[in-house]
Order: sequence, then C-alpha cells, then structure tokens
Amino acid sequence: MEQENCIFCKIANGEIPSSTIYEDMDFRVFLDLNPATRGHALLVPKKHFADLFELEDELAKKAIILAKQVAGRMKEVLGCTGINLVQNNGEAAGQTVFHFHLHLIPRYENDMAGITWNPETVSSEELQELVKLFSE
Ligand code: AMP
Ligand code: ZN
Repeated sequence: MEQENCIFCKIANGEIPSSTIYEDMDFRVFLDLNPATRGHALLVPKKHFADLFELEDELAKKAIILAKQVAGRMKEVLGCTGINLVQNNGEAAGQTVFHFHLHLIPRYENDMAGITWNPETVSSEELQELVKLFSE
C-alpha cells in the first residue's frame, strides 16, 4: 500500500499535513508548495503507484473524473479561465516525485506559467514511419 520514504504516500494518507482541497477514500487533492499559478493542485491516489504505467485502470478512470470535478470547482472559486492537466512520467519527462500525481494548473489571462514546448517540424515520411511502428 504505502511505500517507505514516499512523501506523497505520507501526504495522501494524512501523516504529513497538506493544504487539502478535496479528499475521499481513494484520493487526496492538495495545493502544490511551488505553484506554477495561484491554486496549482496535485491529485494523488492514496495507494502508491510510481507512475501512470503502474496506476490501476479503475483508479485511472476515477482520477480523470475527479480531475474534471476539481477543475470545474477551480473555475468557480478561483476565476481562472483555463486549466492545464499535466502528468509527468519518468525523469526524462520531468517527474521528480515517483508517486503518481496529476497537476491541475489553473490558468489566468497573461499569467507567466511557462507550460509550453518548441514546436518542431516533421516530414510526411517520418509521420508514416511512426504510424507503421504503432501498427506492428
Ligand atoms: P513532478 O515534477 O511532476 O514530479 O511534480 C512534483 C510536484 O510536487 C512539484 O510541482 C513540487 O512543487 C510538488 N511538491 C513536492 N513536495 C511537495 C509537498 N511536500 N507539498 C506540496 N507539493 C509538493
Ligand atoms: Zn507513494
């Protein structure tokens, strides 16, 4: 259930206090200590899963439904006009805490959150090659 030395296990299960904005049997949603924007929250399962690949399907379904609910509530109470859902898996993707979590990042007009990437170009050959890889 709980993984030793996992900070999000301890937060999720209430052993370490957090600024919780939602809690049920399976999940806790709490405010990020280094927020990208005002109200940035993290949705975590109470059971330990390192990342999306480990997360049980049933909990994955519940997580996205809950994210939708909390995102709606954020719009109501924070007055944000957009929301980014961000979910990092693996160091290469920027994951720093290895307990599955979904970032809910409220967005405001002209906020300074740099959630972006540099769009590159791709050839039609490369696109075809990629499609082929997924069909094998
Ligand atoms: P990631 O880079 O996707 O693994 O995100 C980890 C997030 O957890 C970062 O946004 C951190 O600011 C946040 N974080 C780490 N420790 C805590 C904590 N004790 N309470 C709240 N947020 C935390
Ligand atoms: Zn954990």
